[in-house]
Amino acid sequence: MPKIISYRKHEGITRTTSMKVVKHFRWSMAHRLTHGYEGSCASLHGHEYEVEVTVAGEVDAMGLVVDFADIKRACQGWIKKHLDHATIVSDQDTSLLEFLQRENQRHYVVDFNTTAENIATHLRDVLQQELDRVLDQHLSVVHIRLLETPSSWVEVS
Ligand SMILES: [Zn+2]
Repeated sequence: MPKIISYRKHEGITRTTSMKVVKHFRWSMAHRLTHGYEGSCASLHGHEYEVEVTVAGEVDAMGLVVDFADIKRACQGWIKKHLDHATIVSDQDTSLLEFLQRENQRHYVVDFNTTAENIATHLRDVLQQELDRVLDQHLSVVHIRLLETPSSWVEVS
């Protein structure tokens, strides 16, 4: 005979109404550091970038903050369209920018040095805009964890 397990009802228990939901994405992208940087990352190279996007919202009557598929549609859609298999390039890196344009290479132009710190901050802002645009509910991007390698990452809130 299978055991019958009974669950306690939520009555009398304080329920959490605000919760964080995390989704993870991965893409390939090339970059190089400029703005006076002189280390090895001044040479053009690539990373298998990973990002964990944390959004906060209210738990609805169904018990959901948001469908994971909806976060994926918004965030992965933007990343695939703009960053995947592209070179992220500073608008001050004119020699690289000219090469990418001349050779018709996928690229994404930004107005900052393409450090993990700056990319993470940029992702926080653009993914917030994209979630607001794509979803019919408000979610706040409260945390971004961007990994350049499995052992090197930055976090911004
Ligand atoms: Zn790098």
